[in-house]
Amino acid sequence: MDTMTSESPRVLGEATLAELRTRMLGPVIAPGEDGYENARQVWNGAIDKHPALVLRCSGVADVISGVQFACSEGLPVAIRGGAHSVAGFSTCDNGVVLDLSAMAAVRVDPRNRRALAQGGATWRQFDHETQAHGLATTGGLVSSTGIGGFTLGGGVGHLVRKHGLACDNLLSAEMVTAEGELVRASEDQNADLLWALRGGGGNFGVVTGLEFALHPVGPVVLGGVVFYPGQDAVQALAGWRDAVSGAPDELTTLIALMTAPPAPFLPEDVHGKKIVVVSVCWAGPLEEGEEVVRPLRALATPLADLLGPIPYAALQQLIDPMYEAGAANYFTSAFLDELPGPALETLADAHQRSAGLPASCELHVHLLGGAMARTAPGATAFSQRQAPYLINCIARTPTAEGFEANRAWARATRDSMVRFGAGQMYVNFTGEGDEDKVRASYPAETYARLAAVKAHYDPANRFRFNQNIRPAQAG
Ligand SMILES: Cc1cc2nc3c(=O)[nH]c(=O)nc-3n(C[C@H](O)[C@H](O)[C@H](O)COP(=O)(O)OP(=O)(O)OC[C@H]3O[C@@H](n4cnc5c(N)ncnc54)[C@H](O)[C@@H]3O)c2cc1C
Repeated sequence: MDTMTSESPRVLGEATLAELRTRMLGPVIAPGEDGYENARQVWNGAIDKHPALVLRCSGVADVISGVQFACSEGLPVAIRGGAHSVAGFSTCDNGVVLDLSAMAAVRVDPRNRRALAQGGATWRQFDHETQAHGLATTGGLVSSTGIGGFTLGGGVGHLVRKHGLACDNLLSAEMVTAEGELVRASEDQNADLLWALRGGGGNFGVVTGLEFALHPVGPVVLGGVVFYPGQDAVQALAGWRDAVSGAPDELTTLIALMTAPPAPFLPEDVHGKKIVVVSVCWAGPLEEGEEVVRPLRALATPLADLLGPIPYAALQQLIDPMYEAGAANYFTSAFLDELPGPALETLADAHQRSAGLPASCELHVHLLGGAMARTAPGATAFSQRQAPYLINCIARTPTAEGFEANRAWARATRDSMVRFGAGQMYVNFTGEGDEDKVRASYPAETYARLAAVKAHYDPANRFRFNQNIRPAQAG
């Protein structure tokens, strides 16, 4: 008999598990079994959930078996790609986790500049295959991020101004529905589903295959980071804002207010102190790029300048060591139309105020625009295309200790930007899943259309561990 208590995960009966194992090629990992403790972990160490089962799917057939099993047992389903959901959506208490991490194959068609990737691949795996042909598409700034969650939520990366969001490059997808049926979404087939997958998140089913458009990139680009002292934050922010205004699409950049890591390339006396970091990717002719990035190297007196020619695949992994799994994390974000002087001072003040808090508080300002802004807002479910800036307020502590104070700081910092027009959140950069916040992330007509697609593919809201779109009610 199945049992469930509030303290322990639901335990499924032996016979139930044995029957499921006959239908799965990949491991079925239940509470108490070897590997369960590891299998229930996700990137964000603040998340501590106990699923009834983790199913490490070997392919589409396993996904279908897993969905059908969850349905027959009346269990909710969490979908896991790269496990980087900051809100912890890729795990759950007492439900089934469909872990796609073993489904990571990427097949490249260099002639037609297309890549077909399984739904559990990470950007590291994707870039490795595509860069062998000098090709790429917009991918995450941290290479361990999954292509699945990243693309379905939009996808802002080093190529966003040159080649658009990751979801703009999604040409087609294969998805297992809540009924366990495999469907295809493309411009010609279930076009409404493709529209919804381009920004509507993991709401509609388990995406087992994603087909992307590729572009010639690198293999060497001009990229890297320049570090400045924290006391120069307002000057650096204003200089960055002015230098990047009207920049060619080849330039994608962000400026971050952070705490200096104990890295050998930074002077020892700034370790642990507040710093400013400018991140750059120039995906065009290198000599031309040197001229464009020149002002970004002179926003104040640099502490270190690590900007230069670099393989695109290496740039994609450059900041990985700063975002390893296991720490407690919280992100909250907003799109912004303007960055007037008082807004920059507010950000710099918040950054300095975080000095009293344990561990790391970060404020990132991404430059958007370019190709991303040239797609019509209604063309995809991702609709925040006109705002030139995106801020991400990040709180991180090594353990749960001090996490609440850092999270409160991140929320307060975001709120302090509302008077400067800080608007909708970016669903990928948020640790929240409340219904009102998700609704507010989309224009009303976009949300209504998403709800209709949701009602078609997942009317019972079986896939609800995500920035959840409620299925539209019939009639
Ligand atoms: C360190 C770090 C760096 C990041 N950098 C960036 C960045 O540069 N740009 C950016 O835009 N975002 C970035 N993000 C946010 C990231 O895009 C989202 O957290 C995204 O959801 C992660 O995808 P994942 O597959 O790794 O996550 P998971 O936790 O596995 O999944 C997250 C969500 O996506 C759904 N999902 C995942 N795969 C599938 C699938 N195959 N089918 C259906 N649903 C699926 C899940 O149901 C879940 O709701 C970053 C996050 C972290 C933690």
